Amino acid sequence: MKLENEDALDNLIICHQCYTLHEEIPIKDGSKACCSTCGGILYRYDTRLIDHGLALSITGLIFFILANLFPLVQIDILGSEQFITIPKTIFSLFESGFYIVGIICAFLIFIFPLMIFIVNLILFTLLKFGRGDQWTKDLLILLSHITPWSMTDIFLISILVALVKLIGYAQIHMGISFWALAVFVFIDLYIVKRLHLSEVWMLRKRIIQNRETDDRG
Ligand SMILES: [Zn+2]
Repeated sequence: MKLENEDALDNLIICHQCYTLHEEIPIKDGSKACCSTCGGILYRYDTRLIDHGLALSITGLIFFILANLFPLVQIDILGSEQFITIPKTIFSLFESGFYIVGIICAFLIFIFPLMIFIVNLILFTLLKFGRGDQWTKDLLILLSHITPWSMTDIFLISILVALVKLIGYAQIHMGISFWALAVFVFIDLYIVKRLHLSEVWMLRKRIIQNRETDDRG
């Protein structure tokens, strides 16, 4: 296969399982394209993905706000009560003089997760209304950079590990925020697993193409 120019690369897709190169062809809404060699899924085209993405980002944001507003856990040790919240965890690191750890922690468990859901919300809203071609491109690039740095799942697991170690020494009560955080982490994992960035890129391309044909016709 000989390529005329670099743009021709955009129309080629590689199978992630057997590395066969395929030419990307338009497929019907709600269907998927499979590899001719191994049968693995190459890409899907499903405009419902936009509504799913939008619904999941709004739900995720609500649970993230809930997870930050109320106590995660309440610990009673020898009559003294301690509440742990996400903002308090970060602030107590600063108060204890762990500035660098505090900044890293603030980014990993607060700023990046919040940013990802806000970016998703703006991105899917723009895609839904078929607007902001340059914006959607920039947001998708930003998402690919920040997605690996959201670590609320690791934070949740570390809370669980700490609680298991405290059993026997203290009385532990789970707060509303703990369950909100658990739901948030579940939604976060589901988005990463279900909404592949490559498929969102493809959706964006198809939306722009469809609009251009509409404009011509
Ligand atoms: Zn294949």
